[in-house]
Amino acid sequence: MELAKRMGLIKPSPTLSLNAKAGALKAAGVDVVSFAAGEPDFPTPDHIKSAAIKAIEDNFTRYTDVGGILELRQAVAAKFERDNGLKYEPNQIVVSCGGKHTLYNLAQALWGEGDEVIVPAPYWVSYPPIVLLAGAEPVIVTTEESNGFKLTPEELKAAISPRTKALILNSPSNPTGGVYSREELEALAEVVLEHDLTVISDDIYEKILYDGLKFHNMANLGPEMASRTIIAHGLAKTYSMTGWRIGFMAGPKEVAAAVNKVQSQSTSNATSIAQKAAVAALNGPEDSVDMMRKAFDERRRFIVDALNAIDGVTCLLPGGSFYVFPNFSGCFGKSFNGKVMQGSGDLAEFLLEEARIAAVPGVAFGEDACIRFSYATSMETIKKGLERLAEGLAKLS
Ligand code: GLU
Repeated sequence: MELAKRMGLIKPSPTLSLNAKAGALKAAGVDVVSFAAGEPDFPTPDHIKSAAIKAIEDNFTRYTDVGGILELRQAVAAKFERDNGLKYEPNQIVVSCGGKHTLYNLAQALWGEGDEVIVPAPYWVSYPPIVLLAGAEPVIVTTEESNGFKLTPEELKAAISPRTKALILNSPSNPTGGVYSREELEALAEVVLEHDLTVISDDIYEKILYDGLKFHNMANLGPEMASRTIIAHGLAKTYSMTGWRIGFMAGPKEVAAAVNKVQSQSTSNATSIAQKAAVAALNGPEDSVDMMRKAFDERRRFIVDALNAIDGVTCLLPGGSFYVFPNFSGCFGKSFNGKVMQGSGDLAEFLLEEARIAAVPGVAFGEDACIRFSYATSMETIKKGLERLAEGLAKLS
């Protein structure tokens, strides 16, 4: 059957596809070490699960307000005030079915044909397709590894055209783990103001920060920036709630109303039960968040050292999130059984087939020199995978 033309614009999510492939291999009895999944390996904390169980027992199982129950939007507002010093009214907040859905809704509400949206590369795999599905054009701006893969004001300026509507920023970053300092954001904000752009700040990794780094986003830079910044956020990474699908946006109330409208004609409310769990997550204790961050930190140090010890591999020490994005260009041009490794796609395929390691090729994030490894997996798995990686790469000549 003939499909809509827009289906030619996008491919399935490469992170989720590789995850599924690794899962299928494991189910078939193949011993694969997977670094593919961008999800914490810890269970959802008990007090959050209990709130969901109670919601079912209380028959809290019907439609809710499209944009989320008031109690949850108030909990989100309280989170922004407590953690970020930002004040939002509940009518400036919309709860959706995950961070990705929040971004999708925002794109539908804000952009269309003829609009350009700046996406710094390396980018999370779903930003360009989400922009394309809204009929707009993602303008990819390559950043430099020597600058920690962070966008500079000069790079931003050079990418702006009269059609530019917005910039998508993600700090801490998936896939690089890079974190923007307040000063770096201020320098970018000058260009944003000069060209009257909107900023979509994807803050999903806000709480996964190391080395005492502080979290900042564009909305923290004063009222002018706050009024043109829309925060996209969610609970998946902070509270190990990837399957619950709760994301939220905060921004100008006319944007929230537009997102509500899109959602009212598509999914309606996020799951009622998950919303009650989200209230417990946001209003509850954060010791599990600290525990997870400490575990990720230990893994981060181990994986970075182990990667840098391998010939042909270099890896920056990331300041946040739970990914490393090592550079494998030292392995390109080498071959195995007559097949030359020309880029991250070839190498990731070789690693899956010959070393039984799943990791997402950098080309999926707009940077072909690198491969993304998620270290949100056990130390034991990381050690085993890194041994396999070293052995696998040694087969290339
Ligand atoms: N955001 C995670 C990742 O990058 C989960 C999968 C996805 O939605 O891309 O791996």
